[in-house]
Amino acid sequence: MLIVMSLFSKVVLSATQHPLVTRTVTGTAPGRLVAERFVAGDDLDGATSAALGLNGHGLTVSLDLLGEEVHDRESAMAATDEYLASIERIASAGIDGNISIKLTQLGLAFDEGLAAESVERLAARAAEIGSTVTIDMEASEFTDATVGLYETAQKTHGNLGLCLQAYLHRTPEDLERLLPLGGHIRLCKGAYVEPSAIAFQSDDDVDAAFARLLERLMGVDEVKPAIATHDGRLIALATKLAERRRGPWEMQMLYGVRPALQTELVESGHSVRIYVPFGSEWYAYLTRRLAERPANLTFFVRALVGRR
Ligand SMILES: Cc1cc2nc3c(=O)[nH]c(=O)nc-3n(C[C@H](O)[C@H](O)[C@H](O)COP(=O)(O)OP(=O)(O)OC[C@H]3O[C@@H](n4cnc5c(N)ncnc54)[C@H](O)[C@@H]3O)c2cc1C
Repeated sequence: MLIVMSLFSKVVLSATQHPLVTRTVTGTAPGRLVAERFVAGDDLDGATSAALGLNGHGLTVSLDLLGEEVHDRESAMAATDEYLASIERIASAGIDGNISIKLTQLGLAFDEGLAAESVERLAARAAEIGSTVTIDMEASEFTDATVGLYETAQKTHGNLGLCLQAYLHRTPEDLERLLPLGGHIRLCKGAYVEPSAIAFQSDDDVDAAFARLLERLMGVDEVKPAIATHDGRLIALATKLAERRRGPWEMQMLYGVRPALQTELVESGHSVRIYVPFGSEWYAYLTRRLAERPANLTFFVRALVGRR
């Protein structure tokens, strides 16, 4: 069953790269309908109203401008500007939240210095408004550079956090290296297709790795653990470990995924942050959400045939 599920994800991810599938999803009303469930809007205004709505229910947010690897300076600068605008909006609209950034969107794939400069600007401006910046973790070819860039920026500004992926064999070592820097560490399972040489492949192995990292992370009061999962068993483990914790911590979940559980956790007195993706470049993000769960594909097919 585990192998079937992992194969399922790979098949869905590769099928969604097909131009016909891309056109069907991005260019049709049903496709957009599915996107609306997981994406807060095409622009910052959409993200703002979603964020304020979530804040009203006691949830904090991380604003994430959708878009992946860019290959030219102009696009990278445009993404930085949009993130700066998001920080201004957090301040002006009184959003209880921060931003979450992808370094390849800021130019990491072709100019590490450019990405580093942008992180500096974003972290400095976020600090001025009393907010933070979380760095997403992307495909493994960028892990080294991402960890290195986080270390530099966190040492200078002190208001950053980094996502670590439980499926990577290297993560326990990265975690030990980063713990002394404080900040917040977002622990997730990992969303990219990676080879067995560098990442656990079965759900059981990934879950076990997540549990080990969770125990270590929750035992260190100097960092703020951000436990990013919708997995009931791991959430139960986190809340159990939190009973012995003195420092702050939070749960993190994705916009549109298990919303009832999000509210339930807040009502039980836990801090919950929702990752709020927005922007026109939502396709790659959506395909990862669809690949994670067959039921989401059913939702899409039903929308396509008008039975939503
Ligand atoms: C806040 C946040 C930030 C993240 N940042 C990153 C990042 O920077 N880098 C990265 O590689 N990955 C990131 N991820 C994605 C993560 O790696 C997983 O791919 C994703 O969270 C699914 O794993 P899961 O822990 O929820 O467990 P799963 O085993 O996938 O799911 C557990 C249960 O949650 C529910 N569920 C899970 N996904 C869905 C869905 N799409 N729709 C409906 N129900 C669902 C189902 O009930 C499922 O049984 C992030 C996730 C979160 C929550």
